[in-house]
Amino acid sequence: MFLTIMLPLSSTVRTDNLSLMERERFDVLVIGGGVTGAGVALDAAARGYRVALVEKVDFASGTSSKSTKLVHGGIRYLPNFDFALVREALIERGVLLKNAPFLVRPVGFLLPIYKGDRHPVGIPFTTPGGLGLGLVLNMGLWFYDALAGRENVYRHRHMSRAELLKLAPTLVSEGLKEGFIYYDAQTNDARLTMTLIRTAAEHGAAIANYAEVTAFSSENGKITGARVHDRLGKRELTIRARHVVNATGIFSEQVEELAGFEPPVRVEPSKGVHLVLSREAIKLGKDAIVLPETDDKRILFIVPWESRAIFGTTDTGSGDLDHPVATAEDVAYLLAHLNRYLSVDLTEADIISTYAGYRPLVSARSSQHSTAKLSRTHTVLQSPSGLVTIVGGKMTTYRRMAQDTVDVLSRRDGASSPPHPTLRLPLQGSVGWSNAQSDLTRRGTALDLDSLVIEHLGASYGTLADAILDMVEQNATLGTRLIADLPYIRAEVIHACRQEMAMTPLDMLARRMSITLEDRHQGLEIVADVAALMADELGWSAEQQSAMLAAFRAKIEGERAARQVQLPTTAVNSPKEGEVFHEKAD
Ligand SMILES: Cc1cc2nc3c(=O)[nH]c(=O)nc-3n(C[C@H](O)[C@H](O)[C@H](O)COP(=O)(O)OP(=O)(O)OC[C@H]3O[C@@H](n4cnc5c(N)ncnc54)[C@H](O)[C@@H]3O)c2cc1C
Repeated sequence: MFLTIMLPLSSTVRTDNLSLMERERFDVLVIGGGVTGAGVALDAAARGYRVALVEKVDFASGTSSKSTKLVHGGIRYLPNFDFALVREALIERGVLLKNAPFLVRPVGFLLPIYKGDRHPVGIPFTTPGGLGLGLVLNMGLWFYDALAGRENVYRHRHMSRAELLKLAPTLVSEGLKEGFIYYDAQTNDARLTMTLIRTAAEHGAAIANYAEVTAFSSENGKITGARVHDRLGKRELTIRARHVVNATGIFSEQVEELAGFEPPVRVEPSKGVHLVLSREAIKLGKDAIVLPETDDKRILFIVPWESRAIFGTTDTGSGDLDHPVATAEDVAYLLAHLNRYLSVDLTEADIISTYAGYRPLVSARSSQHSTAKLSRTHTVLQSPSGLVTIVGGKMTTYRRMAQDTVDVLSRRDGASSPPHPTLRLPLQGSVGWSNAQSDLTRRGTALDLDSLVIEHLGASYGTLADAILDMVEQNATLGTRLIADLPYIRAEVIHACRQEMAMTPLDMLARRMSITLEDRHQGLEIVADVAALMADELGWSAEQQSAMLAAFRAKIEGERAARQVQLPTTAVNSPKEGEVFHEKAD
């Protein structure tokens, strides 16, 4: 008899889940706790499968915390005639807006057109003197709206030069002719992944982070499970499952190699770097801005996100997949384009933080195409040994990717028309959200929380923010901010230990919260405080606590060194030479 795993997702539950995984035989083992793996676990669990999910580092520690955070169809795919991909993503955008209304929000995108623009948004042709480009873009955006059908957010509209400058006063005015505003949506990628993990757990999935698949077990040439290294408990276990799904993104070829199978497609990771800036420095309002044309024929986005603005992204080749970093060259490329389109003169000193990740692009093994042009479509592969691998796609289409993957399993099990429960499955924190918002504001205000904190709690946890307010009600000091200019409060640290399986300071500050991105000091000034709270919750010894601190500091300092940017100095101790296994792998 299978036991349902109940929330919360604490460290104790993690240990219990691993023991359960060792004892039980599962229907589905999902490898990878990014947005795709989390989506597969939820889809399979919602169809009634008994599911286990293991993640080698932390949930969303791979590409799923490094995106531009857009839930979008992708206007740049239109000039490539990738209409099916755009339509699919626009439908998924609509599904997410309904299923996670607190976490996914519509956002306007200002698209300026300049005299001298030749290939804005990647239009493959140019017109004499740029005449008629506005018309072409208008038609493209009309098509974009039409492809979304009933799921469209709002219709795009034309904007005069004056209107654009009113909404984006720092846009370079010289040569600015006209423009458009169109609509997409945005989210917090790491929080979306965490919410999926929690929803999957609620549907009975047994989940553990810091659990790495190192080998497969098989019988008669068919995979029957996987060998897993518990990186915290430092032990090995075997998980048995009827189906094994490889949802490891850029690592999927490595995992396939473990199964001894050469897939017909190749994953071609392509690095994307973002800068995080203060919104005030670039006078960014509530709308995002599209920089329509770069030297390498791409588009760049400046997007208001959480308390800051994010700007990106680059699209360059591969490197160390476990440690993507922004280099000085990446930063220079982005700053040059920002200063070209905005009448600001930003330097490296204006950068709050940077982040880098690898896109899991797929190509045929023989393809010679540049990754900038590779399609973002996804593919479900089946190896002769039975391993099911899901590759490609984007965060926006994670649900569809998961559905297509679990359909393969359902069909193997004899279902001719499998059910698709996640189409209308609200993610945790969503049910009753529209009514709960005013209660949250009332309760938060009564507890002396300011409006930015209340707004942040709602946008991060939806109705589950109530659990955080409960803690503040019992202990008012938990309602104080961790950092003066960011809306994160101490209660969130406790909550993430008890409910979201946060095991290290980096899990806490980079993914449960976005402090490493939003804070100019990347959390270095508060990490000791946070680690002390975590130590109490997780029962760390003094030695463990200082090893955790050292690992966090080493990680952040390493990233800063990679881009060689002089950021404000802080009193940082040199990292200890302690062995903190998991931070090294992040
Ligand atoms: C710069 C950039 C910008 C992007 N912007 C957007 C955007 O705005 N909108 C959008 O929709 N998409 C965007 N994307 C794409 C999107 O981020 C990715 O498609 C998505 O996050 C991939 O998720 P994933 O779960 O497949 O991979 P990952 O998030 O990388 O997850 C794979 C996981 O597998 C784990 N793993 C690997 N090996 C093992 C093992 N042996 N055992 C256990 N676990 C293992 C890894 O640790 C990792 O956590 C962007 C991507 C990049 C790089």
